[in-house]
Order: sequence, then C-alpha cells, then structure tokens
Amino acid sequence: MQIETFLEEHNQPKYRLNQFYQAYYQKLITDFDQLTVWPKSLRDQAAKQISLLSLKPIKTQVSKDQDTIKVLFSRQHAPEQLLEAVLMKHQDNRNTVCVSCMIGCPMNCAFCATGNMGFIANLNADEIVEQVLFFARELAKTQQKITNIVFMGMGEPMINLTATQESIAILTDKNKLAMSPSRITVSTCGVITPLKKFIMEGYKGRLAISLHAPNQELREKIMPVAKANPLPKLFKTIDLYTKKTNKRVSYEYILIKEVNDQIEHAQQLVLLLKYKLAHVNLIPYNPVSNQSWQRPERKAVYAFAQILKEANIAYTIRVTMGQDIAAACGQLATSKQS
Ligand code: SF4
Repeated sequence: MQIETFLEEHNQPKYRLNQFYQAYYQKLITDFDQLTVWPKSLRDQAAKQISLLSLKPIKTQVSKDQDTIKVLFSRQHAPEQLLEAVLMKHQDNRNTVCVSCMIGCPMNCAFCATGNMGFIANLNADEIVEQVLFFARELAKTQQKITNIVFMGMGEPMINLTATQESIAILTDKNKLAMSPSRITVSTCGVITPLKKFIMEGYKGRLAISLHAPNQELREKIMPVAKANPLPKLFKTIDLYTKKTNKRVSYEYILIKEVNDQIEHAQQLVLLLKYKLAHVNLIPYNPVSNQSWQRPERKAVYAFAQILKEANIAYTIRVTMGQDIAAACGQLATSKQS
C-alpha cells in the first residue's frame, strides 16, 4: 500500500504526509518507529500495512582503493530477483550513485554483461529511488551526501520509461530528495520513440547516449537496437533535447580493441558530432567474462582522443572505477558468487 492511500484511509491531516516525506527522504528513516512526530498508534498501524524497504542488500563489495562500492540487492517481493547499484566516490568529493532500472536488460548490446543476462524484470520507481536512499544512509554515517545520480546501471531507462520518469520526479521533488535535475544523468542506447516522449514531456536532467560506434553498420553489429533506430533519426531526436534544454549531450563510446578504436572510427565520430553540443566519454573496454574482446592499448586510446581534440570536440577518457569488483561500465551482472 502507498503511504498516500494509507493516510487518506486513516483520515489523517495533509501535514502527516509531509512529515513522512521529510523523515523518509531527508532523515532517511528505515522504520516507522523512527517517525516520532506521528502518534504511536498511527506508526504501529503503518508498520503493519506498509513496508518501507522494498529491496534487501545481500552483498557488498568494496574496491581495493575504497572508492567504489557495489551492492547486490534482492527484491523483497521476489527474493530470487537480484540487481546491483554502485556508489562511486570521486576525488573531487562528488558521490555518484549509478542506479539500475531493470533486472537484466532486453537490449542485448554485445559488450555488456547485463545485456548478456537477458531481460528479467522492470523495477518500479520506489525500487529505483531505494537504491539511492540506501547509499544516502551509508554516506550519512560520515556526514556525506549523494551529489549525482546516473541511470547507467542494469537496464534501459527508455524501455522502463514510466518508472524512470516517476523516480526522477521523486528525486527532484522539493519535499522529497530535492536534487537538482542537472545532477541527474539518464543514459540510453537510443530507443527513439520513448526517448522523444521523454524529451517532449520536459526532461530537464542531463542526457547520455550510448553510441559506441560511429557508423550505422558497425553500430548494428554491436548494438541490436541500432537496426530499428538508425543514427540519422536518433540524432534528430537528440537535437530536440539540445533545442529544448540547451544542454550538452554526453556520448558514451566504449573503445574495443580492433573493433571501433581505429583512426578512421575517430574521424567518422568527428563528422557525426562536429556541429553538436557534444561531449565524448571514451571508455576503454572493461572485460566481460564470456567475451573475447580486449581493451585497446593506451596509445590507441590517446591516438583516438587526439583526433577529437584536433576537431575541437570535448572529450574525457573515463577513469575506470571499480574494475576489480566488476562494477565498471558494462560489467554489472548479478551473481551472488561474483
Ligand atoms: S548497455 Fe545498457 S542498454 Fe545495452 S544491454 Fe547493457 S544495460 Fe542494456
């Protein structure tokens, strides 16, 4: 049962709801007993009818450098269904949570461990937000806060659009988590129809596109989504976002040795992005156990980046975090043993 319905059914005044929001989203309570501004009888009733925790943490892994924490959760109502979320503590004091919006993923991108799991289930908005709350509670123990949220974990947000939109509404609601939309990044592999809807319905956060190939032919080979969502049409949709928000778009580009890391690929990427408000995130490939692909040599990564630099295209080479605990980009796949 939803808290809103519960309070209505118990004929409670409106301010009780705000008291709950403040306690749950800002004071980060996990139990109705901690909601001491409510009368005890109401707390007891609520505890009987509503569970505040829809996910259960079952395993935590911390990288050697302590900067990345990956948590495996099970769903309370379907404990066999597992998902992962990651906290990245950056040198500049940013604390970024990478959330999952699905268990598994139907998009089947060839380089991605989640895609290799297949699709298991969509998460709902509360389950997405709860990943954030979990890490917020952990950080609060050392007086730290979450500064950024990226929808880059398991799943494709545009295929679970309602939950994605509802979770963003909770994260940015002034009475709930009150995050600035510009601290939220949604990453998509480019499913055009829902992406257009998402943009037209007023998404104000940042947008990242999993591009990974600079031409249609190669993109179709490594990302099945590309077939029904060709690059020219995808870029038209991305242009809508730029027009509406005037924000730069991030293009994620996983560099895979001898697949998409050649000079000609960099040159094609320049042609695609030259007149766009764009930033390229170059991500040297993180090995996934059942794939034979390799990470390119350092010098190939820098040669690729140099072409972008000469064309005045902004880029970063992503510092890979959490590779030793399989928490890096493309590596999330649930396994209790991993
Ligand atoms: S990269 Fe994203 S969209 Fe592609 S399979 Fe992995 S999780 Fe799904």
